[in-house]
Amino acid sequence: MYMEKLSLAGRVAVVTGGGQGIGAACAGALGEAGATVVVAELLPERVEATVADLGQRGITAHGVALDVTHSADVDAAAAAIRAAHGRVDILVNNAGVAKSDVPAEETSDEHWRFHMDVNVDGLFWCCRAFGRIMLDQGGGAIVNIGSMSGLIVNKPQPQAFYNASKAAVHQLTRSLAAEWGARGVRVNSVAPTYIETPLTSFGIEENPEMYKVWLDMTPMGRVGQPDEVASAVHFLASDAASLITGAILTTDGGYTCW
Ligand code: NDP
Repeated sequence: MYMEKLSLAGRVAVVTGGGQGIGAACAGALGEAGATVVVAELLPERVEATVADLGQRGITAHGVALDVTHSADVDAAAAAIRAAHGRVDILVNNAGVAKSDVPAEETSDEHWRFHMDVNVDGLFWCCRAFGRIMLDQGGGAIVNIGSMSGLIVNKPQPQAFYNASKAAVHQLTRSLAAEWGARGVRVNSVAPTYIETPLTSFGIEENPEMYKVWLDMTPMGRVGQPDEVASAVHFLASDAASLITGAILTTDGGYTCW
């Protein structure tokens, strides 16, 4: 009974920004659990490569080139995916950007808007478009990729724009969970620590001093890997989390304990 709850057989799952890093790991995790996966990613060539890779692993995968910041395109992609697959059971809102290490007083309008456009607006357009489908079909699960940066202030790199955007993701998660809970749609977030992906190479690979601070600040003394976030996403998307909505699940090696 308990292992069955983790099965996603027959489910249709959409992963935004699913072409690399945490998103690609989530696509793999949901696919291995039996879901048909739709990778929605900015760059068409990355969509193609990821879908091919998932296919080689025996996962039923499709792809769509999508910029989540364009709400009309998000609506059109949602309609097309529903038309093709009949339903959408799971949405992983993973597309996100972080051009960190910029002090607040030097943050340009463009830099601020870039982060809000992708991390907040784009995430909401996806919640709205796919949430409508889930409400209409009477159920679904949304997992938003938030961040520990929505709970704490990172050190030493300044990144107020990113921290604020991820705090918004968490509060949006709770708001939608409250609005949609009675109609069968669960909405949760994961809040990862530093995960080894292209997004964090500015610290892990290029700045040993910064990287040391990151490790010193983390009780487990290490950064995470994409699959460690994907496992938490799989759990929240599955029936094993049937009573869980509005949660912000820290996947942070203990970072937020201190
Ligand atoms: P990556 O940069 O490795 O991957 C993000 C993917 O999203 C990229 O393929 C990127 O494309 C794509 N993307 C960016 N903008 C858009 C857009 N407008 N529409 C569609 N796709 C887009 O990042 P991670 O895997 O590290 O991060 C994934 C999520 O996890 C993000 O939301 C991030 O904020 C969050 N997170 C990451 C942590 C980390 O330490 N890595 C920690 C906590 C949270 P492109 O490369 O072309 O921009």
